[in-house]
Parts: sequence; structure tokens; C-alpha cells
Amino acid sequence: MCLLSYYPPGVMPVREHLENGARLNAAGCGYALAAGGTLAVGHGLDSAEMISWFLDLRAALPDGPAMFHSRYAQTGAARLESCHPMNVGGSPGTVVAHNGYLFTSPDGRTDTRVLADDELPRFSLGDPAERFALAVLMEGNKAVIMSAGKDAIILNERLGSWVSGAWHSSPDYGGGLRITGGECSVCHCGSPVPVCKDCEAAAEPRRRALLGLS
Ligand SMILES: [Zn+2]
Repeated sequence: MCLLSYYPPGVMPVREHLENGARLNAAGCGYALAAGGTLAVGHGLDSAEMISWFLDLRAALPDGPAMFHSRYAQTGAARLESCHPMNVGGSPGTVVAHNGYLFTSPDGRTDTRVLADDELPRFSLGDPAERFALAVLMEGNKAVIMSAGKDAIILNERLGSWVSGAWHSSPDYGGGLRITGGECSVCHCGSPVPVCKDCEAAAEPRRRALLGLS
């Protein structure tokens, strides 16, 4: 259910971990690297090309934080515009990538798009108390937020794992298959769609809470 990897300054990605994540989460990739006061961000549906490009970029720009995301499509298909990371509040200065299932949006946008457009701008991410409140509202979901010239933020860091200096949001870096076809990616019941109706209904209070709706 997606692999989101975060690399602190100076940490190099392991190619095999990126390839495992992209094989298990084949609906597109994306990256962000901070260099100086700017962010280099890219997206693509060809994972082999994206991984090679990201590794070359990271070798050239090792001194800032970086992240790489491979997407498992719970909402919609493999589309370039659904790849993470996404601009937060429409601003290219801050991007977010996400791992998990937040909710199904009535307007058809992906949950990460709603997180980036409508939810994150409601929180003061520089305030530790607000970050904590946001992470609690996201429940089992994880996210990495990068802003040009600022430290990266990992939401629900404790739900991922640190391996060789890098943080991974799921065990998919190891390559083991966790979700098979025909099952719900959240509860693993038999389901013809990636999120079953029960899990979709159970997530509606989370959507309302993150949007500040009563
Ligand atoms: Zn389910």
C-alpha cells in the first residue's frame, strides 16, 4: 500500500529498496530533493526510468533531504497527476507524499490530493502541537512534508522503520508481497475494488475531522 522513503541529508538510497517498492506499488513514482533554497520535484509512470533519474540526482545533490514515493492506486488508476509528492495548498514551495488510506472523497479527487489542497493548509506545520494533532487525526496514515530551506517533517514516523539511515513508511522496501489481487488493501477482505465498502464507510469520520467539518 505505497512505499514512501525519506532520506536525511547525506543518506543515499538503496536501488534494490526503490525497485522493490515500485514493483509492489506500480501506479507511478515521484521524488523531491531539497537543494539550496529550492525543491527539485519529478513524477513519472516508468518506474525504472524514475529510479535511475532519482539516483543520479541524489548523487549530484546529496546534502539536503530527499524522498521517493511509489504509488499503490486505491483511488483511480495510474495517472501522472495522481503521483506524489503534491504541492501543498497549490504552492510549489512545499510538497507532501503520503502512505495509507485516508478516505474516499465524494468529488473523486484522491485522498492525497485532498490532504495537500484542503487539509494541510489548515494546520501550522511549524507548531509541534499542531503536527501532533494532525498525525493523530490521520490515524494509521504516514506522510512526509518537505519545504524549501526547512527541515522535513515525517508524520507518524513511529509507524515506519529506519533502515541504513533511511526511513520507510512500509515494509515494501524488502520486496515481500502484502496485498494480492481481489482483496481490500485496508482490511484484506475479499473485494473487487481496492478499498471495500466497509472500510470506505469507516473512514468518513476521518475525512470530516481532517477537514474540520462537524
Ligand atoms: Zn476493507
